[in-house]
Amino acid sequence: MDYLFLLSLARTTLFLITISYDIACEYSRNIWSRMYKMPSWLHIPDSTKIRFRVPKFHLPAHVAKCWAPFSFNFTKWVGRTDGEGVERNWSWLNRITRCVSMMGPGGRWDTLDDFCNYHNWRKTTGAGTSVVLHLPTALIDIARRPIAPEADPGHPGMHHPSPCLPRLHGKHANRAPWDRERLGETGCRVGE
Ligand SMILES: [Zn+2]
Repeated sequence: MDYLFLLSLARTTLFLITISYDIACEYSRNIWSRMYKMPSWLHIPDSTKIRFRVPKFHLPAHVAKCWAPFSFNFTKWVGRTDGEGVERNWSWLNRITRCVSMMGPGGRWDTLDDFCNYHNWRKTTGAGTSVVLHLPTALIDIARRPIAPEADPGHPGMHHPSPCLPRLHGKHANRAPWDRERLGETGCRVGE
């Protein structure tokens, strides 16, 4: 598990990575001492900050001391993420249960691997489309969110009420604010 985890992140150039895992509370314990026992080419760069969190559906089943430290809700930049994306694979795999139940262990393993790989491929290649579809809804949600007194003033979702909000229903309602600004429709930036 450590090998796979570190291999996927070794040589990353990202500054911040949030790991969502059902038992991240357990897995993250002593992760760095375990990492330094591995070959150096598997070490995550010091410049990369790693945050471990537990998916929202799973977290209530943990003991209370896990709730706040591993909650997405209390984590900057990912508060609205549920972290359960990987579980949505099950509805896809349900369709092949009758086939794999008749297979031997090797065939079942290969078939599940194929379907999981295909699911991952569709997710990767569809990421751009997904962002385009969901970004307008997210921006409206950001604009409507009330100010939290303790909120980070630098967070784009923490400024409200937004003078941009009424304009979201206009001619370029589905365009991102930076595109609408470029088009001269509004002088507002996200969060202003
Ligand atoms: Zn826990």
